[in-house]
Amino acid sequence: MATIRFKAIEEVLNRQPIDVVLPSTKTSKYFGENVFDKLEMQEYLSREAYQNVIDSINQGTRIDRKIANQVAIGMKAWAVERGATHYTHWFHPLTGSTAEKHDAFFEPAEGGGVIESFQGEMLVQQEPDASSFPHGGIRNTFEARGYTAWDPSSPAFVYGNTLCIPTIFVAYTGEALDYKTPLIKALNFIDKAAGDVCQYFDKDVEKVNVTLGWEQEYFLIDNALYNARPDLHLTGRTLIGHASAKDQQLSDHYFGSISDRVKNYMVDFEVEAYKLGIPVKTRHNEVAPNQFECAPIFEEANLAVDHNQILMTLMDKVARRHNFRVLFHEKPFKGINGSGKHNNWSMLTNTGKNLLSPGKTPRSNMRFLTFLINTIKAVHDHADILRASVAVAGNEHRLGAHEAPPAIMSVFIGSQLTNMLDQLEKRVTNKKMTPDEKTELKLDIGKIPEILLDNTDRNRTSPFAFTGNRFEFRAVGSSANVASPMITLNTVVANQLIQFKKEVDAIIEKDVKKDEAIFQVLKKYIIASKKIRFEGNGYGEEWIAEAAKRGLSNIADVPEALKAFISKETKDVFEKSQIFTERELEARYDIRLEIFTKRLQIEARVLGDLIRNHIIPTLIKYQNTLIENVKGLKELFPKDQYEKMSKHELDTIVEISERTAIVKQAVDEMIEARKQANRIDNIRKKSEVYSTKVVPYFEKIRYHVDKLELIVDDEIWPLPKYREMLFTR
Ligand code: ADP
Ligand code: MG
Repeated sequence: MATIRFKAIEEVLNRQPIDVVLPSTKTSKYFGENVFDKLEMQEYLSREAYQNVIDSINQGTRIDRKIANQVAIGMKAWAVERGATHYTHWFHPLTGSTAEKHDAFFEPAEGGGVIESFQGEMLVQQEPDASSFPHGGIRNTFEARGYTAWDPSSPAFVYGNTLCIPTIFVAYTGEALDYKTPLIKALNFIDKAAGDVCQYFDKDVEKVNVTLGWEQEYFLIDNALYNARPDLHLTGRTLIGHASAKDQQLSDHYFGSISDRVKNYMVDFEVEAYKLGIPVKTRHNEVAPNQFECAPIFEEANLAVDHNQILMTLMDKVARRHNFRVLFHEKPFKGINGSGKHNNWSMLTNTGKNLLSPGKTPRSNMRFLTFLINTIKAVHDHADILRASVAVAGNEHRLGAHEAPPAIMSVFIGSQLTNMLDQLEKRVTNKKMTPDEKTELKLDIGKIPEILLDNTDRNRTSPFAFTGNRFEFRAVGSSANVASPMITLNTVVANQLIQFKKEVDAIIEKDVKKDEAIFQVLKKYIIASKKIRFEGNGYGEEWIAEAAKRGLSNIADVPEALKAFISKETKDVFEKSQIFTERELEARYDIRLEIFTKRLQIEARVLGDLIRNHIIPTLIKYQNTLIENVKGLKELFPKDQYEKMSKHELDTIVEISERTAIVKQAVDEMIEARKQANRIDNIRKKSEVYSTKVVPYFEKIRYHVDKLELIVDDEIWPLPKYREMLFTR
């Protein structure tokens, strides 16, 4: 009998909100208290050491050994005061999550006893035995060591009893084995490229920082129900389960009042986030039942990426304290919204100017148009690698599947800016402009209001939308390490800006005025990238046809999408800009295919087990009950009466048999297909076979099992149902 399910439901019904012990002061008093930030560094480091670290952050200079020792001593003293007993290099391997290996501070002292010790070399570099992290063949060479190295641009922090030091992770041979290494390179690359372009408009610009504000969506599910669903437990999503009669139709969850139990959870992880300096600002209920979102104030992108990774870890840990499980899977429940992680992206100069924000003067609007149009052009030219940067198994259910953002990359900018680009296209010519023409152009540009925020139409269906002073890359999956899309986006935009500057300078050399040269190139880009701009409904059927007509690619299949990692265009850009070598791109491609394939393999196994061990035995049990009943009726009643009375039962018995037969056969075939796929060594071929030969069985099996869920006695259905997982509080 379905004892586990009912016990779980009972547990949930008896749950009380878990109390949160709030700090006794206001947020600003404890915000960042566990972060070794600039203020703390000034207190714990010598002036010289502090200046070295700051230079390293601002200019990427190396920190020498002597200074590293000083920093280590200061950092240790600070950490020990906060209760730290251990330290760890904290890094972002290509698994997508973060990794840590804790070492105690204590060391044997001379003459006996132990002391707390932490040397410069422990801070700067470590050699974790990290042979089990994905490496895509990079570490199969004779020298398979990997190193972690301190990233001073992201501050160390204390969590629990551990001092965590953000690091990069690279192979002995220099190839990156993580997300942070290429991210830092890409951010430096765009700093330089955008900074150079800024010189056309403002000579004071010395540094351009990328800003990133991610919005994190997630589901919560009660721990007891989660544990009663092997599929959720092992794959992060429900592989079977009929839709609840009521789910999100009434939109009554979106922005609804947050229940006490959930609110306490949110408050709890927010307090922990604040202590770590993560500026979580917004919390609300999302569209789907039990779906929520939190968003911070944007930060410099490298820090923002670290903060997102830390927050996901925190959210997971704190959830357990509240008897919840947090689901970051992109599509835990079929038929209702999945979860994404919108990446709000812009660039900020050291002079305080947001490069995607129009200003008061035609000059600042010209700068704005320059960065806007170059971004559109970059997305146009590199749509496929951007799409690939967010392609993971979970996101496949969101992208171009049951919901958007669609598998077709497009850019939305709103009607105002569309008009503006149309005007530019008409007005700008390649011959010398007359004073009248110049005045008209100036007037046009002057029309861009300083604050577009309020009157930019919101188009929720676009994967890449301009939202007033930033672009929002919406196709990113909720479980993603956002470094991946950030590496890609910043590299392709930086590459585009370099190209732009080259073209403008070439025209200037022909004695054309700077402004005119800029407009000429912008006009060219407006025309060249027109087909990526789309203002309509990205979810509509019409768009699919329209996009095909425009020649835009529409890739929903993950292995297909990932091919962009090794396309000629991608290799050209990433090699030229020294973000990735060809070998690193090949490795990343293979690692992603590997992870994708393994996820599908696990899903296929879990599905097989569920059907064979949970569902089919239940079906037989119920069918036997019906058969008993029919036999009884036959014994008790005359034939004509019996036939009438048993009609429903007999139909159900037949339906169960028929559907069971289909399901059983599909499971057998799926297992066979899996076995065949597993025999393939080449991961590129294997992933394709998984995607095209194994996955199609998932839907087929699910379809019939979900129908059966509707006819089998609720008393014996073994798995918590959608209505229970989404609504039982
Ligand atoms: P919405 O749901 O309407 O998109 P939210 O308030 O949920 O808005 O999220 C907006 C996100 O965009 C926040 O994380 C915010 O900090 C971020 N953001 C705002 N301005 C910028 C900017 N210039 N650069 C990067 N991110 C930004
Ligand atoms: Mg948003």
